[in-house]
Amino acid sequence: MKITIAKTAGFCMGVRRAVELALDASNRTDDPIYTYGPLIHNPQVLNILEEKGISVIKEIPEKGSGTVLVRAHGVPPEDLEKLRTAGFNVIDATCPKVIKVQSIIAKHSRQGYAVIIVGDRVHPEVIGLLGYAGENGYVAENMDALNALPKFDKAIIVAQTTQNKTFFEEVTAWAETLHLNYQVFNTICDSTESRQEDVKNLAEKVDAVVVVGGYESGNTKRLFDIARDAGKHAVHIETEAELDINQLGTPRHIAITAGASTPNWIIKRVYRELENRMMYNRRGFLRWRFFIHRNLLLSNIYLAIGAGCLTYAAAMLQGIEPALSSILVAVLYLLCMHTFNNLIDITSDRYNDPDRATFYQQNRNLLSALTGLFGLGGLLIAYKMGPLFLLLLLCMSFMGIVYIISLVPQSITGGFKPKIRDIPGSKTVLVAMAWGIVTTIVPALDGFGQIRLVTVLIFSWTVSLVLVRTAFFDILDMQGSRIVGKETIPILLGEKKTMGLLKNLAGLMMIVLCIASAVGAVSTLGYLLSICPLSMLMFLSAYERGGIPSGFRQGFLMESHFILAGLLAGLWALI
Ligand code: SF4
Repeated sequence: MKITIAKTAGFCMGVRRAVELALDASNRTDDPIYTYGPLIHNPQVLNILEEKGISVIKEIPEKGSGTVLVRAHGVPPEDLEKLRTAGFNVIDATCPKVIKVQSIIAKHSRQGYAVIIVGDRVHPEVIGLLGYAGENGYVAENMDALNALPKFDKAIIVAQTTQNKTFFEEVTAWAETLHLNYQVFNTICDSTESRQEDVKNLAEKVDAVVVVGGYESGNTKRLFDIARDAGKHAVHIETEAELDINQLGTPRHIAITAGASTPNWIIKRVYRELENRMMYNRRGFLRWRFFIHRNLLLSNIYLAIGAGCLTYAAAMLQGIEPALSSILVAVLYLLCMHTFNNLIDITSDRYNDPDRATFYQQNRNLLSALTGLFGLGGLLIAYKMGPLFLLLLLCMSFMGIVYIISLVPQSITGGFKPKIRDIPGSKTVLVAMAWGIVTTIVPALDGFGQIRLVTVLIFSWTVSLVLVRTAFFDILDMQGSRIVGKETIPILLGEKKTMGLLKNLAGLMMIVLCIASAVGAVSTLGYLLSICPLSMLMFLSAYERGGIPSGFRQGFLMESHFILAGLLAGLWALI
């Protein structure tokens, strides 16, 4: 059975912006934060906002303090004014596309046009839009309501941004036939259109469609209607707990789509749930392969194998005979560091990678003990290699502790506890540096007894590869990071810019390695190993185009780049 996640599933631009504004505000201030009405139509997101201390006000008090967010659907202009007059600091999270409809209405209403809004009269967006039409506003939910309206000398027709495209085409044809003096503005949001188009196309190819999103969300309900009208088994669920696979018949191919207010982590959970059930029903090799892959990835064993391979490749590239002790130090240190990080990151993993969070929650004691053993094992080998290596590893471990614990006395900082982890993007950079030290510097010190120019070159290569890997995972984890207030590189720069940066870095490393080989700074292995950044570049481009399978396979493919480096170096040594 195959599972495809619709390209358009999940937060639209307006909802993402509203949720980000709310989370950023709560991470920045201790003052009370409110949303005027529910920020979006998704109970799970609203629960998280509540956990973050962001509560909902339904009525505007005469006097108030703190910050109020105006939701993505917008509000009537009088409400905006009342909030400000009451003394609130107002953050207007109205979606820019809704603002555009508000402006069209306000302009034409001022010019004496009647305003017909095709939409759901009780929907907050329509209530907000009506506020801009003043006395001249009318709402029509269906053709009967349109026909029942008085005839106007001049009128405009606009659509609720999440309106059904087919219905609005009918309305446009009605105006063009019967009311040539009416101007029609197709204000359906392109995100809604493409989402509906996407589910229509997917429904033709699959046997069943799972629609994920709030039961109150109009656009989610429409996606469900489209899937069902295509004659396919379709279910509408809010979370993975409601998934009843029996309702989907006996599908060979299932599509998952989600409304504009459904967060990524719920889509991921539904995907994982389907994937797990599908695999439990399988027998033989495929089932075993899935569980082995999954557990290798969750336990960081696959990552540790990659670390060993990268150390081997980096040593060969420097012209050093790879020593088992250097490889073991890298494997054990990185296994310890990543498992420890996963143990302290369970809260954000609840949103980013629910499977990983459950795995670490269920095996917390065993994994904690193993983390200690891996760390001790690494230190013991470093001790055998010499005092310099032990000192290096101890310093790195100390840095790891300083990263999460503030060592500055609170009396100096006035209660504030500064930590390195609070520096935006610090985790990604420090993880890459730690990888670079154990995979490149340690073998160089062991082999040459010093750091040569070639070591610096190879260090920049390994650090760059790990930076691309780690920042890519940060992109996948953006929503969860925002919830827990982690400032990763993608949160700082945005997904597009980060992706551009990573692709440029991978491309640059490919070129640098080829040039280094051409001028004889490194052996011809450099040509072969330039395949790794090239493969990363291709992976990132394929990911942007939606060409990388979802779920744990994304992580598996990305981690495989280090194993590829080891295999290429081994192949080169053989030849
Ligand atoms: S569906 Fe479109 S109009 Fe509505 S919030 Fe999202 S981006 Fe904005």
